[in-house]
Amino acid sequence: MSSSLTKLSINQANQLLLAKEVSSVELTQAYLEKIESIEPHLRALITVEPELALNQARAADKQISEGLATELTGIPMVIKDNICTKGIKTTCASKMLQDFIPPYNATVVDKLYNSGAVLLAKANLDEFAMGSSTENSSFHPTSNPVDYSRVPGGSSGGAAAAVAADECVFSIGSDTGGSIRQPASLCGTVGLKPTYGLVSRYGLVAFASSLDQIGPLTKTVDDSASVLSVLSGHDEKDSTSIKHNACYDVKSITEPAIKGLRVGIPKEYFVSGIEPSVNESVQSAIALFEKLGAKIEEVSLPHTKYALSVYYIIAPSEASANLARYDGVKYGYSSETSGTMWDALESTRGEGFGSEVKRRIMIGTYALSSGYYDAYYLKAQKVRTLISQEFNEVFKSYDILITPTSPTVAFKRGSKTSNPVEMYLSDVLTIPANIAGIPAISLPCGFDNGLPIGLQLMSAPLNESLLLKTAKSYEIASS
Ligand code: GLN
Repeated sequence: MSSSLTKLSINQANQLLLAKEVSSVELTQAYLEKIESIEPHLRALITVEPELALNQARAADKQISEGLATELTGIPMVIKDNICTKGIKTTCASKMLQDFIPPYNATVVDKLYNSGAVLLAKANLDEFAMGSSTENSSFHPTSNPVDYSRVPGGSSGGAAAAVAADECVFSIGSDTGGSIRQPASLCGTVGLKPTYGLVSRYGLVAFASSLDQIGPLTKTVDDSASVLSVLSGHDEKDSTSIKHNACYDVKSITEPAIKGLRVGIPKEYFVSGIEPSVNESVQSAIALFEKLGAKIEEVSLPHTKYALSVYYIIAPSEASANLARYDGVKYGYSSETSGTMWDALESTRGEGFGSEVKRRIMIGTYALSSGYYDAYYLKAQKVRTLISQEFNEVFKSYDILITPTSPTVAFKRGSKTSNPVEMYLSDVLTIPANIAGIPAISLPCGFDNGLPIGLQLMSAPLNESLLLKTAKSYEIASS
């Protein structure tokens, strides 16, 4: 029974809980056992909280017996370790925050707790969410559940691997340039990056504030919709949060419903560098959409070719400002070095940050410095506007865009660590959605020698309902 318990979707677990066929304590116990057996190989987690989880599960069982359950009540989850959890370490996989215990919860954590979800653990990531393989964690790398010698993607690699390896029912990640969708693709799960502003980022440790979004990693599209319903909504604590109320539920869709859907295939996303197996699987998915009655047309988004360069100016610039707060004085790591205030600051930051984080801070500081600001940062902002306008234009004639999520399947650990630019290219297909602030979802669409391949769907801002409906239709038709 316990191994089948860890295979459940939210929907299935919820039905068993409501029918009292299983208790949340039993469910939680099953996941804790799974974590214990698989973690030594997978290393998807940084902090596991068995006692807290069982206490929350007991409270959830009480809620269920009182008839007060929501869909997430009693469901075990994992949260990426850059999202603040009151009283539980939130490290960002950095030496800088290795002992940091937040005095408050992120808004999404409050929302999930209020809905009765059970927190099992905090997930590993690339340090401060900078990376595409989870190899930049200061603590340990995470493995891909399908092949331990390969990476799970990143930066939400721990969150994606935990779902794929049945260590939890669902997880919460963050996506600045692809960090939910790329690991979802490489691990074979569903990963959704919502519209910028739909989900509050209060309590998400800031990386690049104009790009960061929180979203779910799940086993099914139904689950993605259920978690998004809980996460979304206006929050006065996040000034970028949008006033938009919606409930996302695609469970009533039982037959593919994409007849007449106007689907654009942006030709710039099918360029050299895409592995043939990825291209083949995505082309078969497109053929399936056509068979189901979607109107497929090639479209062009010519400014896409600048998206990666724009991202690697804007994201490091914002990161260099956001990470200035780690000075060893207010909180976080503090070097023992004596000397002047400047000596202490230098050694705290020198010892506390890893090399990728330092690289980003240096690039960002350079791009923002006087004399270079106009040439780099300002120019990147202008091109960003062009990229957004191009998407707006395309969405006047098309409902959904289809692309691969990642140009490759999961790669071998260590194969890209010596060449940052090659690593950055992992996100070439996911970054444009962040630049434009539009929603995008990655869905499993095939395998290459057992390694999962992901399909990316994008829609106009705040059109998550259509995105999820389309994703669900594909899920039904392809299974
Ligand atoms: N891999 C990208 C980067 O390193 C995106 C990271 C993210 O989305 N957090 O910046």
